[in-house]
Amino acid sequence: MISLHGLTKEFPGGVRAVDALDLEIADGEFFALLGPSGCGKTTLLRTIAGLETPTSGNIVIGGTDVTALPPGRRDVAMVFQDYALSPHMDVMADRIAVMSAGRITQVGTPSQVFQRPANTFVASFIGSTPMNLLPGVAKDGALRVAGAVLPMAPGVAEGEEIVYGLRPEYMDLSASPRQDAFAGHVSVVENLGTSYLVTLEVASDAGDLLVQAVVPEDAEPTRGGPAWAVPRHDRALVYRDGELVVP
Ligand code: ATP
Repeated sequence: MISLHGLTKEFPGGVRAVDALDLEIADGEFFALLGPSGCGKTTLLRTIAGLETPTSGNIVIGGTDVTALPPGRRDVAMVFQDYALSPHMDVMADRIAVMSAGRITQVGTPSQVFQRPANTFVASFIGSTPMNLLPGVAKDGALRVAGAVLPMAPGVAEGEEIVYGLRPEYMDLSASPRQDAFAGHVSVVENLGTSYLVTLEVASDAGDLLVQAVVPEDAEPTRGGPAWAVPRHDRALVYRDGELVVP
């Protein structure tokens, strides 16, 4: 077991690469650390290995506090792996942690983190195509999002501003108008091989928004044409102040 308690590493000049981080990793667990460049992954690993001295906090490995031990006495090794695999969720870890600015923003199994990102940062970071994150408001018992009228989400109160999150894989395209769909024009069609990633330009009160849908290869969407992106409500996630609304 590796336990980190309030681990902080501040470099001279004031960069806080690891910021009051708490984490427990079980014995034998395959644990992956993900996050954008500069979020502190390398510094965290180097600090656990003893190659950096933490500014504060402590590191316990197998019940022994190793914070003051030199690297050679920690029985820890490091190898580097290209992180480019991670957006496709090919990292077959037991659990993953997503880091941002020296902190862990979510820890869970890969499917928990992919299917229920805890905040909009993780939602936009994890996944081969970024999640649609569209501003909206709860009004008259429905969610009003970019012109679409969508079912009210549990845990959201009338009048609240929200962000509606839906992966492009859970968005269908319709050629005819629907109230529960995002109306727009097809601006980009990317061939993904067995499917297309379609980008719609949708006019809304918040200005022009981009809505993406992954559609089957036989859908043949036409660039420039009108289209309606129909969300699968059962897959929608709703965020308030950047955090997932848990009913
Ligand atoms: P990448 O994915 O690009 O390897 P990372 O998540 O591993 O990034 P770190 O290399 O740990 O990130 O860097 C975290 C922050 O600490 C960055 O702002 C970086 O510039 C800063 N940093 C790293 N090493 C030092 C150092 N020796 N001195 C000063 N600042 C540093």
